[in-house]
Amino acid sequence: MSRIDLNKNWDYSEALEGTNHIRLKEKYNLFIDGVFVEPASKHYFKTTNPATGEVISKIAEAGKIDVDLAVKSARKAFKSWSKLNPKERGKYIFRIARMIQEKAKEFAVIESMDGGKPIRESRDIDIPLAANHFFYYAGWADKLEYAFSHQTPKPLGVAGQIIPWNFPLLMAAWKIAPALACGNTIVLKPAETTSLTCLKLAEVIEESGLPKGVVNIVTGAGETGSEIVAHPNIDKIAFTGSTAVGKLIQETIAGTDKRSTLELGGKGANIIFEDAALDQAVEGIINAIFFNQGHVCCAGSRLFVQENISEVVIEKLKDRMSSLVLGNPLDKNTDIGAINSREQLKTIKDYIKLGKKEGGKIYQSECEIPAKGNWCPPTLFLNVSQSSRIVQEEIFGPVLSIQTFRTMEEVIEKANNTPFGLSAGVWTEKGSKIFKLTKELNAGVVWANTYNKFDATSPFGGFKESGIGREGGLHGLKAYLKFDS
Ligand code: NDP
Repeated sequence: MSRIDLNKNWDYSEALEGTNHIRLKEKYNLFIDGVFVEPASKHYFKTTNPATGEVISKIAEAGKIDVDLAVKSARKAFKSWSKLNPKERGKYIFRIARMIQEKAKEFAVIESMDGGKPIRESRDIDIPLAANHFFYYAGWADKLEYAFSHQTPKPLGVAGQIIPWNFPLLMAAWKIAPALACGNTIVLKPAETTSLTCLKLAEVIEESGLPKGVVNIVTGAGETGSEIVAHPNIDKIAFTGSTAVGKLIQETIAGTDKRSTLELGGKGANIIFEDAALDQAVEGIINAIFFNQGHVCCAGSRLFVQENISEVVIEKLKDRMSSLVLGNPLDKNTDIGAINSREQLKTIKDYIKLGKKEGGKIYQSECEIPAKGNWCPPTLFLNVSQSSRIVQEEIFGPVLSIQTFRTMEEVIEKANNTPFGLSAGVWTEKGSKIFKLTKELNAGVVWANTYNKFDATSPFGGFKESGIGREGGLHGLKAYLKFDS
């Protein structure tokens, strides 16, 4: 196979995104009842840039008293928001969508600074998709009876929403937009390491004139989340995060009237058949596992290649990995940004050690690692088995495990041999193989000849330990409604 040495022959000049246009406060308060207020404890924690270790801002830590205030405010606001003419509700949501678009560049830069993801991803994926969710659900606000005909849809009440650090603004949009469209009010908590774009969203919400208390944003760590989960005056918990915390939430709300949707972890199978367009498939493998440094619940972290093409696919993959640019998330050349936190970097490193100990053969691209910040080079493991822990457990980093298969039956069995059931990818020229696999793979989302494609109109969610319920599309609306008939 002829090779192009991209690293030797191509030299990229830096193409840094500007930061002059962003406005950040030194300190952020809680957004409760339409205004920014200090936390009862007066405690603030630092949020840092994972690519440099620099402190960006300080964030208020909400405790029991603050969560209670936020819930009271949401409960009060529910009385009028749920009765507001749905067309008017739609207008507010539409306005928020427009304002996110207007401030897209600021949101994108802050998302990359706070979370470590490459600017190309936050600019082209996170922020446009977040606006897209608000636009989409704005359209449904006055059409709920058509969405669910012969039923009388009613809002649930106050929704407690807890989101993770991998797609902060996008996850906030996934949760806030459908809840508002259905007439619910909200108490939302972003993840401790990535609160900034949610707080900027709070500024947008304030500026949009949305009635006070309809959306409340409380910041803090896991304890703040558990105060929301345990609060007796919350009607629904919408959670995205780890399976472990998802289980804790289920235990806490068991025996109560609270509803829940849980979007949890995954260990997606990406399956390449011998008849696939190999160069496209290799791009698909790269995107599936290295997008957002692998901090993606639906990442294609288990690669299955048909045995007779495995050598060529692995060679092509190694070649392509060696051309990935790792570094400053604000550089438009960057493919692989910073790992979100030191804790997550340690988790990934521990898994890499474990993979070697289990007998896996490691390959890492030889990219230069910046002196400061949290970094992990794109990594793959060969010689792994179905029982390897790095094959079974979610690593949530840029680490791919590769196995081969001979027959369709074998790969279906192997792909389904995991406690998770969130996502999968299939690469083949044959429609019949695609239909068989989409039917037999135990995954909430199956992509064919593509990977990691998201759309507001499409439901997303998993089976088994990947969670309960769906977000997006009409399914996402239904999760915020109750029906009389
Ligand atoms: P967590 O489940 O710990 O966190 C998700 C959210 O829940 C965060 O806002 C977190 O707060 C909050 N939280 C933590 N503990 C509790 C609790 N007891 N009650 C209520 N809320 C709580 O996931 P992490 O962000 O720490 O990531 C760890 C692992 O989770 C990853 O390695 C990955 O496996 C998985 N994950 C899956 C995601 C998905 O999209 N399916 C997304 C993110 C993570 P805080 O962060 O402030 O502590």
